[in-house]
Amino acid sequence: MSLSQGRHYLAIPGPSVMPDAVLRAMHRAAPNIYTGELPDMMPGIVADLKAVARTAGNVAAYIANGHGVWEAALANTLSRGDRVLVLATGAFGLGWAGMAERLGVRAEVLDFGRRGTWDTARIAEALAADPGHGFKAVLAVHVDTATSVRNRIEEVRAALDAAGHPALLMADCIASLACDRFEMDAAGVDVMVAGCQKGLMTPPGMGFVFFNARADRARDSADLASAYWDWRPRVEAAGGFYEYFCGTAPTHHLYGLRAALDMIAEEGLEAVWRRHERLAAAIWAAFEAWGKGGEMELNVPERAQRSCAVTTVRAGSPKGADLRAWLTEKAGVTLGIGLGMDASGRESPSFFRLGHMGHVNAQMVMGALGSIEAGLKAVGIAHGPGGLDAAAEVIAGA
Ligand SMILES: *Cc1c(COP(=O)(O)O)cnc(C)c1O
Repeated sequence: MSLSQGRHYLAIPGPSVMPDAVLRAMHRAAPNIYTGELPDMMPGIVADLKAVARTAGNVAAYIANGHGVWEAALANTLSRGDRVLVLATGAFGLGWAGMAERLGVRAEVLDFGRRGTWDTARIAEALAADPGHGFKAVLAVHVDTATSVRNRIEEVRAALDAAGHPALLMADCIASLACDRFEMDAAGVDVMVAGCQKGLMTPPGMGFVFFNARADRARDSADLASAYWDWRPRVEAAGGFYEYFCGTAPTHHLYGLRAALDMIAEEGLEAVWRRHERLAAAIWAAFEAWGKGGEMELNVPERAQRSCAVTTVRAGSPKGADLRAWLTEKAGVTLGIGLGMDASGRESPSFFRLGHMGHVNAQMVMGALGSIEAGLKAVGIAHGPGGLDAAAEVIAGA
């Protein structure tokens, strides 16, 4: 028997749940792109995006997903044959490195495995071994969405400064922006990429590259910069609204994004971060209790290294895929697939992920956890008692 009728909950790490306010804002006839509300909205959107990123730098917006802005960040700062150092704590770090390679950039990967953050001593070693400053950039993923490892980007800034190394620091905050605490300028980040479909609660289709003056100077000599990806005209938009997107603007996305940024401003960014912290803590509490009675466990053992936006779970057997299927078909909640958790890089049935980014509240998390407990029983994944009690304690303490 299926109990999945009712509002479906897509509890995956992007695209995330879209607020009704965002959907309502998008539901309109074609807006005027020449004058009036839509072009007038753009400076405010730019200002609010920078506020969410906590930067006084620039932002260029693209009609692109996360992969698009990965490429945009590289194209505006690097030349064919340049070397970059990539810090990988999961599939997304490796993915960004692969993108660099395909552009003709030589990516040297420090792979720190899939269960925890990087080792700063190894980063320092790699920088010390580059006295000629061959690395033009260090690529670091804040939250790796495959492993749910959260890294402290400011540690890379400290390592670069300690080594006196001029490489640009580039951060991927696609999963974490407006979910996990992150302040671009305070972290000493030169280039940061984000998408609209995770913490920013807008349907997939827009990506952002934030960059400071130092990164913009690298643009002068970057031979990978091409007409479409060039970030400069998009920032200045000196030729008018048309230039923000090097062509037609994503009209309806802008209305949706405007509504999402209003929601973030209304709640307050600090409160948004705290909400994500508390909801994540409830999820961890549940899985820690369940894990005491079986093979299932959180992928990241160290609490301080866990993202508050996404949680990767090791199911302990390929029944993880059965659990996902059961939840979608019987309970109306879809969890994320296990991604890149072995050398094959393919979907791993022994893993699943919960997205808890963006428009998520206590009842959604408790509903998902309650459904998961039912699913564990239904598909026969061994688990200890008290998972929901433990989660409820965390929520009750909020
Ligand atoms: C989602 C994500 C990406 C890729 O974004 P797409 O929109 O799927 O191209 C890259 N990096 C991180 C950390 C992500 O979470």
